[in-house]
Amino acid sequence: MKKWEENVRRVIPYTPGEQPDFADMIKLNTNENPYPPAPGVQAKIKELCAEELRLYPAPAADALVEGLAACYGLAKEQVFVGVGSDDVLAMAFLTFFNSKKPVLFPDITYSFYDVWAGLFHIPYECQPLNDRFEIVKEDYYKENGGVVFPNPNAPTGVELPLADIEDILQHNEDVVVIVDEAYIDFGAKSALELIEKYDNLLVVQTFSKARSLAGLRIGYAFGSPALIKYLNDAKYSFNSYTMNRPSLALGAEVLKDDAYFRETTAKIIATRERTKKELAALGFQFGDSKANFLFVTHPDYPAKALFEALREKHIFVRYFAKPRIDNYLRITIGTDEQMDALITFLRAYMK
Ligand code: PMP
Repeated sequence: MKKWEENVRRVIPYTPGEQPDFADMIKLNTNENPYPPAPGVQAKIKELCAEELRLYPAPAADALVEGLAACYGLAKEQVFVGVGSDDVLAMAFLTFFNSKKPVLFPDITYSFYDVWAGLFHIPYECQPLNDRFEIVKEDYYKENGGVVFPNPNAPTGVELPLADIEDILQHNEDVVVIVDEAYIDFGAKSALELIEKYDNLLVVQTFSKARSLAGLRIGYAFGSPALIKYLNDAKYSFNSYTMNRPSLALGAEVLKDDAYFRETTAKIIATRERTKKELAALGFQFGDSKANFLFVTHPDYPAKALFEALREKHIFVRYFAKPRIDNYLRITIGTDEQMDALITFLRAYMK
């Protein structure tokens, strides 16, 4: 080992979901939206002139922050934006989880939480989900250095009722509680209404899922002006200017088309419910997902073999080689045609 390597900050990196690139693929592995972004966004892309790219973007991302504030009925001091909700969450970990006490999050959850905790030297303790893959609120009442969980949870899709979130908040007034709402638009109830009451609550959302803009990397957080100010202070110290001009312009644009957003989201929910019925008829088991994916298992067909058989056909779903969930597949909800292709394949495979 070289002398300088003694001082290297070693982390276990996040293994990103597969990003295959085949013309004929059915991509149901990273929870993207199967529909294009709103028509206004497509038009705006053509309008954005290259000349604009000569200039730095607005550091405070004013148009996007104001657009979000107006859309969600908030003051702009209650809104923070970043490069995807990953960036927002990482910034929040860095800013708010700064005590010697462990941060609490579920044992089965978004895989980036322990990566950031490792990167920033934040102690953490995972709380097991129950056997229905639900978060057990009482596990979060113990002394801690902060709380974070997705709602609905990922990769299970299970929702934690708002009343339980409020119970967790009431037991955690001295630390920051982050509710990661990446999938909130597909049927679960948002904790946004609680931010006026709890100044330690940070609600994090994204344009990557329901708004169909994963490629632009736009995430945001809602919270008390105090929380948002601390986040901005951290952001301007570490990564100011990182939201680029096209993202800022197109992000502000996507908020203008509420009807399209509601229509495509309703379509995905309807396809999810139909797919559930088809998969149940094939003997699959799953919980009540409130996300744009299903988390499924089959008593007779091991998940890994199914994953590999699907992959051969260029149908990509997600398999996690992790304890407790290594017999499950996470299947993103695509278009009706894509789900039909998946079901047709499974039906033939299981004959
Ligand atoms: N939180 C959860 C629970 C997620 O599943 C994801 C997407 N993989 C993210 C946050 C990050 O999404 P993005 O950075 O695209 O906003």
